[in-house]
Amino acid sequence: MRGGVFYSRLGPLPRPRPAGEPTAADDAMMTRALALAGAAAAIGEVPVGAVVYETASARVLGEGFNRREADHDPAAHAELLAVRAASQTIGDWRLNHCTLVVTLEPCAMCAGLVVNARVGRLVYGANDPKAGACESLYAIPSDSRLNHRPQIVRGVRAEACGDLLRTFFRQLRRGEA
Ligand SMILES: [Zn+2]
Repeated sequence: MRGGVFYSRLGPLPRPRPAGEPTAADDAMMTRALALAGAAAAIGEVPVGAVVYETASARVLGEGFNRREADHDPAAHAELLAVRAASQTIGDWRLNHCTLVVTLEPCAMCAGLVVNARVGRLVYGANDPKAGACESLYAIPSDSRLNHRPQIVRGVRAEACGDLLRTFFRQLRRGEA
């Protein structure tokens, strides 16, 4: 209610930043992220994979896949592991010059991490209507009240990314996973 009154005084809500187009490197890294997601599924984890690469050189700095069950860690999301690995690789927590590629729209925790790590570009595949915090439920990385906003590219290989998840949950329901 407060927000409604606030915005009615200022006029319409600010428009979201336009989503960019994937580069060839983004696409190649999404192939890698999909393979990582497959590795997660193979050990019974929800299949999400992530890669952090240096935007200018396309050098991979960190990667990860969901390991919540294996690590008994609610924070062991693919993005968090990839971002942490990249920061260790370069010896710096600031990732302005890096791109995070992930198969699924980041959750509130990981979207917050993108902002905190100053990730320069965020590229993701499938939208997550249940927990996505980059567009679906919240738009944390493009929120102008925060001190960093990455360039965002959405929907890269969305079909393949979503298919991995759908297949995983179908097998889980059938007791095959
Ligand atoms: Zn997450």
